Amino acid sequence: MTETQLVIIGSGPAGYTAAVYAARANLNPVVIAGSVTAGGELMNTTDVENFPGFPEGVQGPELMENMRAQAERFGAEVVYDDVETLTLEPGAHQIVTALGARYTAKAVILATGSAYRELNLPNEKKLSGHGVSWCATCDGFFFRDQHIAVVGGGDSALEEATFLTRFASKVTLIHRRQELRASQAMQDRAKADEKLEFLLDSEVAEIHGDESLTGITVRSTVTGETSELPVTGLFVAIGSDPRTSLFADQLPLRADGYLEVDGRSSKTAVDGVFAAGDVIDSVYRQAVTAAGSGCAAALDAEHYLAGLESAAKQSQGVDAAAAATAAPLGS
Ligand code: NAP
Repeated sequence: MTETQLVIIGSGPAGYTAAVYAARANLNPVVIAGSVTAGGELMNTTDVENFPGFPEGVQGPELMENMRAQAERFGAEVVYDDVETLTLEPGAHQIVTALGARYTAKAVILATGSAYRELNLPNEKKLSGHGVSWCATCDGFFFRDQHIAVVGGGDSALEEATFLTRFASKVTLIHRRQELRASQAMQDRAKADEKLEFLLDSEVAEIHGDESLTGITVRSTVTGETSELPVTGLFVAIGSDPRTSLFADQLPLRADGYLEVDGRSSKTAVDGVFAAGDVIDSVYRQAVTAAGSGCAAALDAEHYLAGLESAAKQSQGVDAAAAATAAPLGS
């Protein structure tokens, strides 16, 4: 069992920024970064053009590597493992990892982020990795000169679709409404791309294929009419949901499923447990806002731990004074 001041669960911009701040405050944080998901969602992104400080943009994985290196430089320990169980007990929260490591922590920062949504259609899971994907930067290369469909109308879908035109012969973006949700800049870029066509007011009704994807059935959300699209790649980019399964039975969640925190702070309902990033943010969900919220969580944790330490010192002082006054009486 390793006793620690602070364990940070998650290694996206929120987790690593919390680690930078906590390490600089000499809290020696342990970051449980995830075995395959270390670095979080930005590891699957290409150009990040809106993270301040990079006038020419930066690649998502490079940004995350830099954040990790910065946290380690100040003494954060980054562990590439997954948390299997988390038991919240104020003063000594227990963390057990998939590889069997055990930690107790006086404070915990939950920066578990969010997980990609699925269409929940038959064959979707079976053909995952065989034509159906959630990550264009990971899998796009496999679809050279093929016809690919992307589902969704947000920034992720348009970014993925635009990226995929580098490889594909054609990309069809399928969105359930007429209006796209993506930012105007992203829409302008996508609409200028000659390889990209838009199938609006449409949804994926069926996914076909035994060993690998052979096509999809698309249904109009207006008329209900269906048509076949013989794509060999289907990229699902319909947003994500907060990852709360580790602690959903121990901490109150909001009605929309996000973890509840106290006002603008990062404090959860359990003493010494703080949260940051996409797991608490249903509105902004940007790398820079996640980083800011990681900073806030580290500052809240630091304040909490300082309070514990001064309370411990005070009670030691009271005990010593009581012993000193009790001694003559007892002797
Ligand atoms: P999002 O903004 O929540 O968009 C999800 C899209 O998927 C929406 O268009 C939604 O349709 C659609 N959708 C949701 N559930 C669906 C379902 N079951 N079937 C079909 N379509 C469905 O998610 P996101 O695009 O992943 O973006 C998340 C956040 O990250 C946003 O704040 C975004 O701005 C940000 N982001 C930024 C960048 C960047 O700046 N470079 C890149 C990627 C993401 P409706 O529109 O009808 O709801």
